[in-house]
Amino acid sequence: MTIVRVAVLAPIDHPLSYSADTSLEPGTRVVCPLGSRRVMGVVLGPDDKPPAGKIKSIVSVLDQTPALDRELLSFIEELANYYFAPIGEAVRLALPPIERDAASALAQPTLWAKKAGVARLTERWAVAIMGESDARPPRGQAQLLLSHLRAVGEAPIRALEGNWPSARALCKRLDELGLLRVEERDVVTRINLGAKVAADSPPELTTAQRSASERLATAIGAGGSTFLLHGVTGSGKTEVYLQAIAAAKAQGRGSIVLVPEIALTPQLVSRFRARFGDELAVVHSLLPARERLHMWTELRSGKVNVVIGARSALFAPIDKLGLIVVDEEHDSSFKQEDGVRYNARDMAILRAHRANGVCVLGSATPSLESEFMVTSGKAERLVLPSRAREQTLPKVQLVDLRRMGAGPTGDRRLSIPMHRAIERTLAAGEQTILFLNRRGFAPSVLCDTCGKTVECPSCSVALTFHKRGKLICHYCEYESLMPNACPKCSAPSLTLDGLGTEKLEETLRTAFPTARIGRLDRDVGAGKKGEAIIEKVRSGELDILVGTQMVTKGHDFPNVTLVGVINADAALSIPDFRATERGFQLMVQVAGRAGRGDLPGLVLVQTYNPEHPALTFTQSHDVTGFIARELVDRRELGYPPYSRLVLLRVDAVDESIAREACARVAEIARRAAEKATALQVIGPAPAPLERLRGRYRFRVLLRSAERRALRYGVACVLAHRAHLPRAARLSIDVDPMQLL
Ligand code: ADP
Ligand code: ZN
Repeated sequence: MTIVRVAVLAPIDHPLSYSADTSLEPGTRVVCPLGSRRVMGVVLGPDDKPPAGKIKSIVSVLDQTPALDRELLSFIEELANYYFAPIGEAVRLALPPIERDAASALAQPTLWAKKAGVARLTERWAVAIMGESDARPPRGQAQLLLSHLRAVGEAPIRALEGNWPSARALCKRLDELGLLRVEERDVVTRINLGAKVAADSPPELTTAQRSASERLATAIGAGGSTFLLHGVTGSGKTEVYLQAIAAAKAQGRGSIVLVPEIALTPQLVSRFRARFGDELAVVHSLLPARERLHMWTELRSGKVNVVIGARSALFAPIDKLGLIVVDEEHDSSFKQEDGVRYNARDMAILRAHRANGVCVLGSATPSLESEFMVTSGKAERLVLPSRAREQTLPKVQLVDLRRMGAGPTGDRRLSIPMHRAIERTLAAGEQTILFLNRRGFAPSVLCDTCGKTVECPSCSVALTFHKRGKLICHYCEYESLMPNACPKCSAPSLTLDGLGTEKLEETLRTAFPTARIGRLDRDVGAGKKGEAIIEKVRSGELDILVGTQMVTKGHDFPNVTLVGVINADAALSIPDFRATERGFQLMVQVAGRAGRGDLPGLVLVQTYNPEHPALTFTQSHDVTGFIARELVDRRELGYPPYSRLVLLRVDAVDESIAREACARVAEIARRAAEKATALQVIGPAPAPLERLRGRYRFRVLLRSAERRALRYGVACVLAHRAHLPRAARLSIDVDPMQLL
């Protein structure tokens, strides 16, 4: 008998000890008792110092070969430790998706029996038995199913359920009658990547692309390191990634490519498929669990060793990992904002490092963190200074709304220069993208009598008016009909305030009646509908595309020559020390959509604040200058990358409970800071977003240039966690990306 440490899939901070009859490899999935329940867990390793007292034994072992290999498993342990995350929650990130259902089914042992087949990666097939039978021929549905099966020979029962919802029961009955046989088989994995893509061969590389690719290939062979690939928009960074993946492959090593979720479009995927064919796994959140399981199995078996996906692809089971690419590394969507709050960019560096592989962070607007890694010698810079086909970068003009009158629509937010530029672009038969960071029709509803805005009942934010007459909270999805009178003062004087994408679309339709106009935002959807819109821009069926962030990411539309930013100030006024950095990145990305083909591009940016550095540096395409200036500010204020932060957030339904619990947290942290003098405690204070989903939120910030001091502070708070009121919830966000 041996004793092992197990990460159980439950929110428990530490591994638990269980006994087993046989020795179990780390990474093996097991079922173990937890209180009165049974839960799935993953074996971490032998337990050298088992706790005193009775040790429960493992109920069953689910894997012949471990589901997670040692490299991945120990990476996850380090990740959990870094983020102060429960080990089981972290391990869950790396397990194939279908296991999550199985894990919850485990709580009810009867259901578990049914789910076990799924957990073991097998499924049931119905196989026809040919020849005579004594059994009375079935009738009705059973007869139809049987004749279908005799025609096709065999089929997975799951597939039969499409035509016969009760196929499972029917097959069981027919099996008992000896008319067919039900068999348990391994799931056949087949990655469905959609339509075939014609193979391409690499273009002739530019000099900069060639030297970057060669440097990466050498580094993969030489035991790995971290690179910042700084290339202007359209400079051909993707080609460098493709070259690096090929170099890793040639050395027998696998690759992971991480991209922001909304940049993971079929167009991007086909560029990878054109080069690597079907030897490519694609992981994203819209993929059905079953297909994600297929991908996982292909990767785990080593049949495929290149994966492209959003942040969760970081945990892909790739053996002999040689390369991790993080494209658009500055993008904040690499940070998971719930559960295990990890940053896939930072952890990509760690995983690559542990695997002796290369990590490439690519961007046209590097984050200050990555830039700082270069200046402090932790990463090497590779530069692609110009666009791949020598197109010039677009001309950026700022439109000062304080001095500029409204255009012919009478709406100030469509200024004369913007209106004229759209007109000219339409006349030339070219395309326009208009970027507006607010979806819906009107971002808020104001009462003319009392001056208040209509707020969400559970969040401290204004409700957005949508065209179909609904008020929607963009934080919690609360919906109500537009009231006739102000909820606060009852006066019937509610008016719509501000401009959203729906309204902008309508205004444009009136102003340019013959133009073909489309809209892309979260209300249209990131799935098929959104894809259809993008396809229409590409094929020239649309003249103007209006949209939110979704229009800014990665698209390569050669006929777009005008990009208009309707309200640059919205992005720059967020209460966060990264607002300027984010605003700048956003401006450069949006601007980068213009003039990518053979025609020169123009970018018009409307603002009330034309002196803002995020805008002036965009105008001069001076990314390096912007970063240098912003770093000076950060150093003066003592913010990252010159320090590290941990955000401790306390929330509760009751305001005074949240406030008091947070005060308590601050007090413990201050006491820790007396010992660890490098630790600075800021707060307690109400969070900028004071109320969310019915909970009041307060925060304490820990800041230090020394990681050890920070960890000490967090550990002290955690040690006292049990003394906080039960109704209060404490969350720990290490290296927070947003302080709201
Ligand atoms: P980035 O990711 O840096 O914005 P892309 O990789 O999307 O840039 O490349 C921009 C465009 O240039 C694409 O249409 C791509 O096919 C093309 N391109 C890239 N490298 C080359 C090259 N060496 N020769 C010709 N065209 C190239
Ligand atoms: Zn809300």
